[in-house]
Amino acid sequence: MKRNILFSASMLALAFMTACTSARKPEVENVIYLIGDGMGFGAVTSLLVSEDSLTGFEYAPIVGLSETCSANNYVTDSPAGGTALATGTRTNNGYLGVDPEGNQLTSILRKAQEMGKKTGIVVNTTLTEATPGAFYAGVTSRYRVFDIAKQFTESGVDVAVGAGLDHFINRPDSLDLTATLIEKGYDVYLSWENVLNTASDKFVGILPLGDVHRSKSDNNTAGAAEGQEVCLAAKLAAAAEDGNATHLSEPTVYLEKATAKALDVLSRNSKNGYFLMIESAVIDGYGHNNDPEGLIEEMQEFNRTLLQLVEYVNAHPKTLLVVTADHETGGVGLDYFGYEAGKPRLNFSTHGHTGTVVPVFAYGAGAEAFAGVMKNTDLPKKIEGLIR
Ligand SMILES: [Zn+2]
Repeated sequence: MKRNILFSASMLALAFMTACTSARKPEVENVIYLIGDGMGFGAVTSLLVSEDSLTGFEYAPIVGLSETCSANNYVTDSPAGGTALATGTRTNNGYLGVDPEGNQLTSILRKAQEMGKKTGIVVNTTLTEATPGAFYAGVTSRYRVFDIAKQFTESGVDVAVGAGLDHFINRPDSLDLTATLIEKGYDVYLSWENVLNTASDKFVGILPLGDVHRSKSDNNTAGAAEGQEVCLAAKLAAAAEDGNATHLSEPTVYLEKATAKALDVLSRNSKNGYFLMIESAVIDGYGHNNDPEGLIEEMQEFNRTLLQLVEYVNAHPKTLLVVTADHETGGVGLDYFGYEAGKPRLNFSTHGHTGTVVPVFAYGAGAEAFAGVMKNTDLPKKIEGLIR
């Protein structure tokens, strides 16, 4: 009897919710998709307990959980995780923007373009890395970076800022893809100063890796157990350590400043709105390296970008902000021993990724759709449902 009453009550609630949803669809013109690579609950907690003031996460009116499996493992890598978040389809680990049969998938960024929206990509790693690549590329191996760079030139994005110049100019086919971009009407900038000062509506910034993120991790990736994936971001972080790249005076401010610049350009003359994906890539690298200080500092940088976006969304009510991760990295936990207020002692259970659920935080127009437990593939579907 009790079960029947509950059943009837829940059916009524469902009918009511359906009626409400169909009655008034929230007006979503702009979408900002902020992805913390490898940012699981341990990473978020490390920030919450070490910050005195409210973090951007705590301003989220809606919170959900995302199950991050790939098509062929409970534990996803970044290409398959990015593909799920970008296209709404699970694929095999290693695959990027294609399904397990190798068929090209259509990302939410492409769909936004079809709807007449401007699009942008801001990353603190190479533009050809797995997470941004999932939004425009289609390859059966993430390591085909020269193919991915070529596909980037066909992406149609209005604004992109990241690193990875070698993939565009130092190529086995001898092509100069910066020339290709210029032919397609882009302004191409190779220095931070040019990106910061441009008034262009269509540009690509391909900066030295040392300008887009810190690279002062003490550990290297040699600690990863055999057979475990070591992310490209982690390798790049280690490689940049001994490179001769010229550096932005404060690469820790890159992500927030590049984000502000992209928002400025995309919101200018955008009569149909825009879609902007931002990736904070190096949280994952510090998780792989089991580097607690690096991870916390990276989360602080992420938080500054997030706070800025929360403020932006509050001032632009037709904007939806969705924040999540492609997977958790490092099996990060907080240690009981050695407690010191404001200084969390992190422990790690692996040098690889884990299959635990990751958080979803949503703000602004349409945020309600992201409450509850979902699959990684549900996120782009929900976004598409809101902007169509
Ligand atoms: Zn990784």
